[in-house]
Amino acid sequence: VKGGLVIVGGGTAGLAAATRARRTAPTLPITVLEQSPHVSLGICGLPYLIGGQIPSLEDLQIMPLARLRQERNLDVRPLNRAEALDLRGRTVKVRDLVRGHLYTLEYERLILAPGGRPRRPAVPGVAGENVFSVYCPEGALALLDWMSRESPRQALVLGAGYLGLEMAEALRRRGLAVHLVERRPELLGGLEPPLQERLVAELERGGVQLWPGRNLEALEGGVAGRVRRALLDGGESLEVDLVVLAAGLTPEPPLLEGLPLRRGAQGGLLVDSRAETSQPGVFAAGDCVEVEHRLTGRRVHLPLAGPAARLGRVAGENAAGGAARYRGALGTVGLRIFGLEVARTGLSRNQARELGIPVQVETVSSPSRARYYPGGGPLQVALVARHPDGRLLGAQAIGPEGAVARVNTVALACQAGLGWRDLEDLEAAYAPPFASLWDPLALAGRLAQR
Ligand SMILES: Cc1cc2nc3c(=O)[nH]c(=O)nc-3n(C[C@H](O)[C@H](O)[C@H](O)COP(=O)(O)OP(=O)(O)OC[C@H]3O[C@@H](n4cnc5c(N)ncnc54)[C@H](O)[C@@H]3O)c2cc1C
Repeated sequence: VKGGLVIVGGGTAGLAAATRARRTAPTLPITVLEQSPHVSLGICGLPYLIGGQIPSLEDLQIMPLARLRQERNLDVRPLNRAEALDLRGRTVKVRDLVRGHLYTLEYERLILAPGGRPRRPAVPGVAGENVFSVYCPEGALALLDWMSRESPRQALVLGAGYLGLEMAEALRRRGLAVHLVERRPELLGGLEPPLQERLVAELERGGVQLWPGRNLEALEGGVAGRVRRALLDGGESLEVDLVVLAAGLTPEPPLLEGLPLRRGAQGGLLVDSRAETSQPGVFAAGDCVEVEHRLTGRRVHLPLAGPAARLGRVAGENAAGGAARYRGALGTVGLRIFGLEVARTGLSRNQARELGIPVQVETVSSPSRARYYPGGGPLQVALVARHPDGRLLGAQAIGPEGAVARVNTVALACQAGLGWRDLEDLEAAYAPPFASLWDPLALAGRLAQR
């Protein structure tokens, strides 16, 4: 194949695509361009690097560069940035960031996996030297370096999605006082009220001061270039020694600006179920794409590792001559915040309402272990199903343990088109250390049918 396959981005989607393409076509020339020095790094572990549970960035390496090159026969090029794409001429202009020169690569097939672009609030002071974005390893390292040099005492985290929550805990673990500011009243994109209340209580117990429903208006400095105060739209002025931006990503990385490829309402690339963009021979996957929602068929931006890796595999297989199909995403998320697991999948009540889908929601609470068995605590589960046929659309769960397992079960049930009755029939494993006899999912199924 002339020029072979070129993949832009050596992150989650790019590496999944590369390894799948290699399996599909053992002799295909495959080049992976990565602008940073890091390839195949588990960036989902960055909050734990900041929090101190993971000692060093090297520990996040999933597959070393040498193995990718030798065992997988991939021409992986860290510190090589794709600077311009000519989709007609099928070439990529690449900057070798070590030597500084530009060169041109030809391709037969191209996979775009450059990730998204972190949102930066358009407020004064956001370029301050103590304002950090932890969406890439360099940002996390810069934050760690700054913390070790400056011994900060107070931090502000902007955004209460999973990353903001994880970062708030990480900074608490380092002994900082933490303000967590979120412009919406809900956390984690919207949980049922009893679950949200529990999460808020846990954050407060962990020493995080929460500011829901507040906008950041300005970051003000003291000494040159350094932010010292954050002003919120409620009139509050918070003393801060550092700021972490965790306000989400847009699906528009700089490389893709102005390219003549079809896009969705949020600016993400649109691909078909083969992961091919509107330009034949050009595939895309990961945070730069709007994927099809598995339950609604609508295009959604779900910047998560699972969808990125899955669509990446599909892109890799098809770009190498295979015939794989992507079947859509649900948006399943799980995290641990202090002593609680929190997880969600599929649609929330509000998301269903916005789509005009009538729903029935059941919220149950049951002990995560047999009542007489030491440890554990209440596990709260909220289930969302279409009304009146009872087809499951989503779930949320929170508790000291077992929340992720329940949500994963419902994710599969959603994919399979199951409903309340199936949940009632669920024969979940039971033993005193990890369940009560009536699993909360079975309980919810039974209650819903009453
Ligand atoms: C701190 C953090 C924690 C996370 N935790 C979770 C989690 O617990 N669970 C979960 O499901 N998801 C999590 N995510 C999200 C998940 O990591 C992403 O959705 C996923 O990595 C997206 O894959 P991607 O390949 O599209 O982007 P990335 O993995 O970001 O990779 C894109 C790569 O492309 C490179 N690149 C960009 N432009 C160019 C260019 N012009 N030339 C060459 N290279 C380029 C970038 O340097 C980057 O390495 C987390 C993300 C972060 C940042």
